[in-house]
Amino acid sequence: MVEKALCTGCGACAAVCKRGAVAMKSDREGFSYPDIDASLCVHCGLCNKVCPLNNETAAPDRETAGDQIFFGARAKREETRLQSSSGGIFPLLAEQVLRQGGVVFGASLLSDGTVRHIGIERPEDIPRLTKTKYVQSDLSQMWREIQTPLREGRQTLFCGTPCQAAALRSYAGLRGEGENLLTAGLVCYGVPSPGIWKKYVRLLERKYKGGFQSFSFRDKRNRDNGHACSVQIGGREYTNSLYEDLFCRTYFRNINIRPSCYQCRYCTTERDCDITLGDFWGIEKVKPEFDDGMGCSAVICHTPKGRSLWSKVQDETDWFSCSRDEVANEGQPRLREPIKPPKKRDRYMRLYQWLPFPLWIGLFRK
Ligand SMILES: Cc1cc2nc3c(=O)[nH]c(=O)nc-3n(C[C@H](O)[C@H](O)[C@H](O)COP(=O)(O)OP(=O)(O)OC[C@H]3O[C@@H](n4cnc5c(N)ncnc54)[C@H](O)[C@@H]3O)c2cc1C
Repeated sequence: MVEKALCTGCGACAAVCKRGAVAMKSDREGFSYPDIDASLCVHCGLCNKVCPLNNETAAPDRETAGDQIFFGARAKREETRLQSSSGGIFPLLAEQVLRQGGVVFGASLLSDGTVRHIGIERPEDIPRLTKTKYVQSDLSQMWREIQTPLREGRQTLFCGTPCQAAALRSYAGLRGEGENLLTAGLVCYGVPSPGIWKKYVRLLERKYKGGFQSFSFRDKRNRDNGHACSVQIGGREYTNSLYEDLFCRTYFRNINIRPSCYQCRYCTTERDCDITLGDFWGIEKVKPEFDDGMGCSAVICHTPKGRSLWSKVQDETDWFSCSRDEVANEGQPRLREPIKPPKKRDRYMRLYQWLPFPLWIGLFRK
């Protein structure tokens, strides 16, 4: 097993173990890690073999660096962009795969506040997956569920963080089931703790006296590229600035982020997925006419599969070709290097373990 500080918590090691010797368990910061039951382990080595951290970073079928193609793009339908966090490219890819009789897996925010990857087969379910959730999503049910469409030879699109996409490619490759798999890896700032998020949801329920229904981390109704968030609780809606919300504030101060994200190996344009989706930061410099406050995506096609999928939806977008530099250097720091851990992270996390949660989260008021 890789050392704890590097483990991304994808759970591929637990999924691949035929003896059930590896279980994912939550640590004191609320992130899950593999835990091996030595009495069940037969030392077959599959858990190490599947771990993407023990494999090459770049997809074996990846185009050479010079052949990768870079775009800025946004869905032509404004409604699609409104329902998405960036340029609305993910829902177009999903629609395309579902039209071909395929299946789509993505992160859904459930009504108990859990963020979990689920599979959908009907276009009307796409909104269950759209929009960014700033919480590490749970893949535990996905591993088993995704086997069926992959075995049946149905096109299967997975969208998630780049470490999750790489883990799934490794898992499906190891089992000889990768042929119909399409992976979309997000540009990623880092994933926040599901444990801290769950406590925050319960706090919001107490504050607003109602049952949690939903949370939008990037609410675009002000046409401001989603610098607002909104929560639905007990049939009412409460909105806030993304930077005033206490949970989001711990995120943007890099506190509640998984330790492995500070050393993420996917903060590069050489990634282990078919297609990369991110926000086109810096669009105002590269293509000011695309900067309308409703979101523009950066798209990178890494493999022939990614290129083919993109070509099928390209006409449903306004798009422009651009260079690697325009996407990664002008715009997107998370394609160059990971975020840095703040000096006070350890202190805050120690306090998290000792202080009652309302007091701890209260530390992040101005
Ligand atoms: C934790 C996180 C951090 C991010 N950080 C950056 C960043 O620093 N820079 C940047 O350019 N882009 C970042 N993104 C990606 C960006 O916010 C958009 O998700 C992406 O550009 C796709 O937008 P869209 O409009 O095409 O699709 P949308 O309709 O917004 O769809 C979002 C897709 O992301 C998946 N998803 C949502 N939440 C999660 C999650 N918690 N874990 C795994 N998959 C999830 C959904 O399943 C869906 O497939 C981040 C996303 C997440 C989840």
